[in-house]
Amino acid sequence: MTSISKVCILGGGTAGWMSAAALSNKFNNLDLEITLIESDEIGTIGVGEATLPHIRYFNQTLGINEPEFMKSTEATFKLGIQFCDWGRRGDHYIHPFGEYGQPIDELDFHQFWLRLNQSGRAPRLSDYSYPVLAAEKGRFRIPDEDITRIGSNFGYAYQFDASLYARFLRNHSELNGTKRIEGRVIDVELDGETGNVRSVTLESGARIEADLFVDCSGFRGLLIEQALQTGYDDWSQWLPCNRAIAVPCESRGELLPYTRATARTAGWQWRIPLQHRTGNGHVYWNEFVSDDEAAHQLMTSLEGPALAEPKQLFFKTGRRNKFWNRNVVAIGLSAGFLEPLESTSIHLIQEGITALVELFPTTEINPLDIAEYNTHMALNFERVRDFLLLHYVATQRDDSEMWRFFRSMELPQSLQEKIAAWSSRGYLLKYEFGVFLPPSWIAVMLGQNLLPEGYDPRVDRYADGDLVREMERVRLETEAAVRNTPTQSEFLTRYGATSDSRPLSASLT
Ligand SMILES: Cc1cc2nc3c(=O)[nH]c(=O)nc-3n(C[C@H](O)[C@H](O)[C@H](O)COP(=O)(O)OP(=O)(O)OC[C@H]3O[C@@H](n4cnc5c(N)ncnc54)[C@H](O)[C@@H]3O)c2cc1C
Repeated sequence: MTSISKVCILGGGTAGWMSAAALSNKFNNLDLEITLIESDEIGTIGVGEATLPHIRYFNQTLGINEPEFMKSTEATFKLGIQFCDWGRRGDHYIHPFGEYGQPIDELDFHQFWLRLNQSGRAPRLSDYSYPVLAAEKGRFRIPDEDITRIGSNFGYAYQFDASLYARFLRNHSELNGTKRIEGRVIDVELDGETGNVRSVTLESGARIEADLFVDCSGFRGLLIEQALQTGYDDWSQWLPCNRAIAVPCESRGELLPYTRATARTAGWQWRIPLQHRTGNGHVYWNEFVSDDEAAHQLMTSLEGPALAEPKQLFFKTGRRNKFWNRNVVAIGLSAGFLEPLESTSIHLIQEGITALVELFPTTEINPLDIAEYNTHMALNFERVRDFLLLHYVATQRDDSEMWRFFRSMELPQSLQEKIAAWSSRGYLLKYEFGVFLPPSWIAVMLGQNLLPEGYDPRVDRYADGDLVREMERVRLETEAAVRNTPTQSEFLTRYGATSDSRPLSASLT
C-alpha cells in the first residue's frame, strides 16, 4: 500500500509526456493516479529535434516499436553532429556516436594515432570511425551485433519533431491510465505547515490535489520557481548565448544522417534534417549581434524556402538551485537550460525521469532521496556545461568579439583539469555521471585542433612497421564496412520507418 497515491504532472511538452509515459509504464503495479495538465492556449516550446543515443533505451523500456515511432515523428537517424567553422573558419569535423578504431592490447586506439600523427604519417582520425565515414556518405544501418566487427562499435540517435514525439507518448500514457486535463493553472496552494504544494487550481475552477508534483511547465517553472522560489544558478558567464531564432524550411539534397552546427560570428546555426522538412535555427548572444541581423543571417542561409515565420526564443543558461524541492520535481526546461549545441535537453529530461523512477517515493518523501536526486542531476548538468564550453574555448578563432571573449575566459576548474590532462599526453580524466564518454571529448578536442604534446608511452612498445600495418588494416576494414552500407533513405524504406507524409512545400503551408 503506497501513501504517495496521486502524482500531478504540470505541462504537456516533451518533458511532461515523457514523464507521464515513463511513470505510467514503470509503476503500473502501484495504486498510483497520474494526472497531466496542459494548456492548449499556452502551447509548448516546440523546437527540440535532435537527440542523443540514450533515447533508444528510453523507448525500448516503454516497449515502443522503432519503425512505428519513426513514422509517427518524421524521424531520421542521427550518427553524430558535424561542426563547421569551429576550430578555424573552413574547418569541419563530425562528432560521431561511436569509437575510433578499436583498442589494441587494451590501449586506446587514439594513442596509436597520436604517435603516428607525430611522425606526420596519419590520415584523419575520422578515417578509422565507421559512423563518421557512413555519415559523410549519407549511409545508415543498425550496428552489427558481432562485437568483433568494426560496424558494431557505434550508437545512433534520432532527429525528429519533438511535438509529434510528445503526441506519440500521449497515446502510450493514456493507454496506461494517465488522465489528461486541458486548462490553464492560475493558482497554486501551498501547505501552511510543510510548505509543500498542496494543489493547483485551473481557470475553470477545478482544483487538483496531489502528493507529488512533476513540474514540466517549461521556462516558467510554475511550481519549482514561481510557487517555491527555488532560485536559478545562472551560467551565462560561461555560456552567454541567450537567444535563438528557429525556422523550418524545405529540404534539399539527400537525407543526411547527421545534424550540422555551423559557428557564426556571435553564435552558431543548426541544421536538422527530418523526413518531411529541415529544421534550422540560429543561437546567438545579443550583446554582439542584433535580433534583426541574427534573423537575416539565418533566413539568407536556408537551403530551401521557409515553411513558417521565424520564431524568436529567449533563454538564460543555467539550472535550478534544486531540481527536487519539497514535493516538486522539476523536469525539462523548468529544471534548467543549456543551449542545444550537443542536443542534450531531451537527454537531461530522460536523466531526470530515470533518477525519479529509481528514487520514487512510495511511502513518503525522504530528504536523503531528494539530496541524492539533486546531486545526481547537478553533476549531469555540470558535465554537459563543460562539454559545451569546450567547443567555444578549443578554438583558434578570434575574428569577432564573441570569439575573443572566449579566449580570455576563466574556465570552470573541472574543464581546466580535463584540458590540461589531455594536452600533455592525450589522457582523458573520466567524469562520474558524464553523458559524454572519451570518444566525444576526443572528437571535439582533435576536431578543433587541440593536439596533445605527447602520447601514452606504452605505445612505444610497438615496432614502427607493425603499427603502420595494423592502423592501415583498421582503416581499410572501416572503409569496406561503409561501402556495404545502404543510404539512409534506402534503409528507412527497407525498415518500414518511412512516414506517409510528403516532403513539405512552402506553397502548401
Ligand atoms: C532554441 C532551442 C532549441 C532546442 N533544440 C533542441 C534539440 O535539438 N534537442 C533537444 O533535445 N532539445 C532541444 N531544445 C529543448 C527542448 O525544446 C525542450 O527541452 C523540450 O521541448 C522540453 O520542453 P518542456 O516540455 O520542458 O517545456 P514546454 O515545451 O515549454 O512545455 C511546457 C508545458 O507546460 C504547459 N504549461 C505552462 N504553463 C502552464 C499553465 N499555467 N497551465 C497549464 N499548463 C501550463 C504548456 O502548455 C506546455 O504543455 C531546444 C530548446 C530551445 C529553446
